[in-house]
Amino acid sequence: MTILALARKEIRQLQSYTASEIGPDTIKLNANEAPWATGTEKRNGLNRYPAARPAELTRKLAEYYGVGTDNVLVTRGSSEGIDLLIRSFCSAGIDEILLTPPTFEMYRVYASIQGAAVVNVPLLADQDFSVDTDALLAAANKRSKIIFLCSPNNPVGSIIPRAQVLRLLDAMADKSIVVIDEAYIEFSETESLAALVTEHENLVVLRTLSKGLALAGVRCGALLASTEVISLIDRVLAPYAMPSPTVACAEQALSDDRLTQARESILLIVAERERLRTELLACDAVDKIWPSQANFLFIRFENLSAVSACLAASGISIRSFGDSAIFDHCARVSIGSTADNNQLIDAMRSVS
Ligand code: PMP
Repeated sequence: MTILALARKEIRQLQSYTASEIGPDTIKLNANEAPWATGTEKRNGLNRYPAARPAELTRKLAEYYGVGTDNVLVTRGSSEGIDLLIRSFCSAGIDEILLTPPTFEMYRVYASIQGAAVVNVPLLADQDFSVDTDALLAAANKRSKIIFLCSPNNPVGSIIPRAQVLRLLDAMADKSIVVIDEAYIEFSETESLAALVTEHENLVVLRTLSKGLALAGVRCGALLASTEVISLIDRVLAPYAMPSPTVACAEQALSDDRLTQARESILLIVAERERLRTELLACDAVDKIWPSQANFLFIRFENLSAVSACLAASGISIRSFGDSAIFDHCARVSIGSTADNNQLIDAMRSVS
């Protein structure tokens, strides 16, 4: 059986839209575009549709992630990758996804939009939020089309060990897609699992330029998978999906110089994360900080309301998550610039 048997029948049978690709010297009267443009739009050719798929950006991303070009689908942020996967594999009212809360909220949101059920297998809070593999395998059934794992996990910063992912991939081969969302992997010491997509048909790795490459406003991500899964998801992604300015910005950010700069900035963020951990642990208002391999810390405060009020008065916003038992008095704090972090430390010292 190929992994595509898991996909929705309508998607497997979809005759996708064929976008015409023609050379630059052709008189283009085929796409109902405007023949005129002014200002920067003219310089950047914005009166024309972009290529149906951005070939050069795909090549650069494949090189950056260490996979083949056929293993990459460029998307509008990795959020779009999540949505495309759920829409392609989950039939509304029938199929389900497996989640390991606390984790990134958007898996649940996109599943709800598609009408897919969500089965929660909570992380082990008393074991630094590690994944309960046995419980995940026990919860999986033939309607469980996708298991979403986030490593490093948002909001707690924990990593899933490679051996654990391999066990899940093998146990779920032919049964379920296993997504490893590596949005924050650049801040971690752990190696990406991207290179495994050619060995495991059921593995999908999600990457984004929003975090490590500092391009959240550009909206560019990548779905990395076997060629079979890529060609399936490619049918669901809109033609001309990637805006020309996004493609241009992302290509520039992947030049050798810019990547060297990004690596230096990432090292700085990691150093700041550890400095912030030490400084905040010394504050009376802080109870616990979990180990983090991302660009944020997950912190339990003595009194979250007092901290939030004090930080708000200093013009600092952190992310709290309502009142579930796990999140009681907890919040996620992003690592900012050195100046931002110093202000946070000053404000935290003044919490009474
Ligand atoms: N995955 C995780 C774990 C995230 O935290 C985020 C953004 N906060 C995303 C995916 C989406 O990122 P983007 O759409 O900007 O690529």
